[in-house]
Amino acid sequence: MQFSGKVALVTGGGSGIGKATAQRLAAEGCAVGVLTHDRDEAETAVNEIAAAGGQALALVADVSSEDQMKGAVADLVREYDRLDYLFVNAGINGVWAPIDEIEPDEWDRTINTNLRGTYLTLHYGVPHLKRAGGGAVVITASVNGTRIFSNPGATAYSATKAAQVAMTQMLALELAKFKIRVNVVCPGKIETGIEESTTHRDEAVAGEPVEYPEGKVPLTRGEAGTADVVADLVLFLLSDRAKHITGTPVWIDGAESLLVG
Ligand code: NAD
Repeated sequence: MQFSGKVALVTGGGSGIGKATAQRLAAEGCAVGVLTHDRDEAETAVNEIAAAGGQALALVADVSSEDQMKGAVADLVREYDRLDYLFVNAGINGVWAPIDEIEPDEWDRTINTNLRGTYLTLHYGVPHLKRAGGGAVVITASVNGTRIFSNPGATAYSATKAAQVAMTQMLALELAKFKIRVNVVCPGKIETGIEESTTHRDEAVAGEPVEYPEGKVPLTRGEAGTADVVADLVLFLLSDRAKHITGTPVWIDGAESLLVG
């Protein structure tokens, strides 16, 4: 897929979808900056890539921090001299609760991680893609906020995911003249560690369960997807095989969002 000799930044690369994608990219010969705010996660992921013969650098940064993101991108480019791909993927579920029970600091935490983090990754990463003469970006949004609105209380999360799709479409136009493609993947339920990032207030949400509907993935009779299948899609969208695809949301959910959306 022509990743050899190229460099990618993967945010949220220490777990789930980001980790699977970082491993796949490294296996294809790409040097990978594995960025997460969790040092253990980042170092473990990098050690595993190195043990498999790949090249990776651990970048410990909070995606919502201007200084930390500026420093992390600079460290990556200092190490490998270039940057060709951005996988803008770090995210949290955050608080799922009625709007009058979401505290301002809880609202800000979700918006800052998922949306400000997306902005900062692009703000510091894109100049290097321009300098490289082109490149590709993939952002991880979700079915939630784009086709599914059936999770009562996931208001802040959904707002960030819808905004990521809008950003993708704006940036596909803005960056086309720099030969930079920008696409967005919208996964349905995928088995990862993301549930741990959720603050549920189930009883508070008008008696409705806040859990993602189970048993409603038509293609798999209810079974969730795996991080590997999302990684395969991300690699395709980053690769030159997708050279005519930009500004495009791709849902990867076994038709789940068509059923409940
Ligand atoms: P995960 O929890 O396994 O991985 C998330 C990663 O982001 C972790 O490495 C975590 O440390 C990192 N992270 C979180 N906050 C951060 C911060 N402030 N700064 C830096 N790193 C931070 O979850 P995942 O499911 O792999 O999530 C990846 C993306 O996929 C998220 O954007 C999520 O919204 C999206 N998504 C997941 C699902 C699903 O069902 N798992 C569905 C739709 C969308």
